[in-house]
Amino acid sequence: MTDTDTHPDDYAFATLAVRSGQRRFGEMEHAEPIFTTSSFVFANAAQAAARFAGTEEGNIYSRFTNPTVRTFQERLAALEGAQACVATASGMSAILSVCLALLKAGEHVLASRSVFGSTTALFDNYLTRFGIQVSHVPLHDLDAWEAAIRPNTRFLFAETPSNPLTELVDLQALAALAHRHDCLLVVDNCFCTPALMRPLELGADIVVHSATKYLDGQGRCVGGAVLGSEALVGKEVFGFLRTAGPTMSPFNAWVFLKGLETLKLRMRAHSESALQLAQWLEQQPGVLRVHYPGLPSHPQHALAARQQRHFGGILAFEVDGGREAAWRVIDATRLLSITANLGDAKTTITHPATTTHGRLKPEQREQQGIREGLIRIAVGLEDIADIQADLARGLRV
Ligand SMILES: *Cc1c(COP(=O)(O)O)cnc(C)c1O
Repeated sequence: MTDTDTHPDDYAFATLAVRSGQRRFGEMEHAEPIFTTSSFVFANAAQAAARFAGTEEGNIYSRFTNPTVRTFQERLAALEGAQACVATASGMSAILSVCLALLKAGEHVLASRSVFGSTTALFDNYLTRFGIQVSHVPLHDLDAWEAAIRPNTRFLFAETPSNPLTELVDLQALAALAHRHDCLLVVDNCFCTPALMRPLELGADIVVHSATKYLDGQGRCVGGAVLGSEALVGKEVFGFLRTAGPTMSPFNAWVFLKGLETLKLRMRAHSESALQLAQWLEQQPGVLRVHYPGLPSHPQHALAARQQRHFGGILAFEVDGGREAAWRVIDATRLLSITANLGDAKTTITHPATTTHGRLKPEQREQQGIREGLIRIAVGLEDIADIQADLARGLRV
């Protein structure tokens, strides 16, 4: 086996995205191979015993480790600037793995109230069954975060920018606050990806990903990842994963690691188009408000410019006329995909009040600013003029 592993510290982001984590095997293959094997053989009984005892490193079984999954893990770790990465079967199993590895009964999780719907459901409906306390605070309000911390708070959990209103939190300030109270900060970096923001550098302790979104980038596979220190992620989270088994498949790992190679280019393109679309939407009749961190009208524009490399591919806007008007815009499209997914080369359009946030009570939606006229767009890689023309059809009437 020829080992051409690149050293994470030596190269810039774009180079790491293409090169890191690859080990070349005996066939001298150029691209990374897919190891579709559930188990691995040992040279002899003594080696098998040593691997199981943990005195010798090496593959045993693909629930624990797999070479293709390892390449993805090492590459993403290099991009996030993390010591350790554990790949998981989905974004939700990444979050579940963090919870089950780090929490015990009687502890408290403090989460932003604007996190992914299934994350809220996992926290509120499942963790609470096992004696974990959960509470929620408005994402941007650092005073509210601090006031809600309890003596038994284990970690703070945030997503920035939020979905769908693109609110931000200052991660450096939130990390400092968490650490002052002996809590960890866990950040779901799905919307930014390390191409736009590296939460660990800003002080976060753990980053989770839904690889399903931008890391894949073409809507093909479901997967996730947890990143952080060797002690927290390499030991604790990995220990849970190898035991409980929400493992990433080698095929999916291969799709994601190839996705990482174009991540920087794609995130710049998504961001450039989203900014153009946001600026254009602000000029359209019937559009009451556009939520996008790249607009000077966004209340946290300065923070976004400081915290992120670009402003991201997701925006929301509110049309005059409530649900009826919003549905008219959505139903008039011929190009955009009506789906709740995001992070795809294909632009997607969503009505949050009746889909992603449909399970919330009306007063919760109102409190969070998810109005009936709100539309979310995850801007893809199509030509911006075609996206605008598609939306103009429903806005003009
Ligand atoms: C989609 C998503 C998840 C869940 O990821 P899955 O891969 O669908 O399990 C978690 N967080 C955010 C922000 C997401 O968009």
